[in-house]
Amino acid sequence: MRFKDRVALVTGGGRGIGAATAKLLASEGARVAVSDLDETPAREVADPIGALAVACDVSVRADVDHMVELVEKKLGGIDILVTCAGIIRDNLLFKMTDEDWDAVIDTHLKGTFLCARAAQRSMVDKKYGKMVFLSSTSALGNRGQANYSAAKAGLQGMARTLAIELGQFNINVNTVAPGFVETRMTRATAERMGMDFETFKLGAASQIPLRRIGQPEDIASVIAFLCSDESSFVSGQTIYVRGGP
Ligand code: NAP
Repeated sequence: MRFKDRVALVTGGGRGIGAATAKLLASEGARVAVSDLDETPAREVADPIGALAVACDVSVRADVDHMVELVEKKLGGIDILVTCAGIIRDNLLFKMTDEDWDAVIDTHLKGTFLCARAAQRSMVDKKYGKMVFLSSTSALGNRGQANYSAAKAGLQGMARTLAIELGQFNINVNTVAPGFVETRMTRATAERMGMDFETFKLGAASQIPLRRIGQPEDIASVIAFLCSDESSFVSGQTIYVRGGP
């Protein structure tokens, strides 16, 4: 029960890595708010674990402020923020549109900024907080992902900066950077490339030293570690979770 009496807000919690994280935090005692773009996936995850479901577009400031106020009112001040909301709009540079760029930067980078800024208020008051942002191995560069790679590298810089600013309030800020994880996001990539998902997964696994792709639970357990007091002296770091170095 590492998260007994803690309040955790998980964005993008209706699917994939966010859903696995919300379930794990709840199973260890946290009062969880599951936020997603639409209420239906948020509710599907939240209801069975007794969590609060909130619909929120993280790229819209009014939505984020409303979500954070609601969580504070219904569950108490926020102790843990995990930002999993994410999209991909892959294309080679010469084909990447302004809309592809803006949608990805707004969701990952602006969305995380808005959530962190809104959530820090109650963390500073409590002199306690854990923030974990979802980065990616794509932060190191990945063909067709100029927008996503820039956003994911940006999140690492943002986490390091917030770790410096918020450390004096006993707030830890870190990023987790997964490799290939089996979710709707990687399924969509296979579809876009015209590949069968099973073949796509086998190809990815063959490139990974541990010879398997990740599951959302593989990432959730590392996020939970960074949300726990076991990692209370770790801040401003990125942990790559990709089955290899
Ligand atoms: P996923 O299954 O597609 O889940 C992403 C969630 O984010 C979806 O529930 C989606 O909602 C939600 N979302 C999208 N735009 C949003 C917005 N503007 N406001 C609020 N919620 C929004 O993806 P995932 O694979 O679990 O990814 C979770 C995070 O891990 C992402 O940041 C992703 O970039 C990162 N990551 C994933 C992988 C991987 O291999 N899967 C690898 C590295 C990093 P709807 O479905 O309702 O649209």
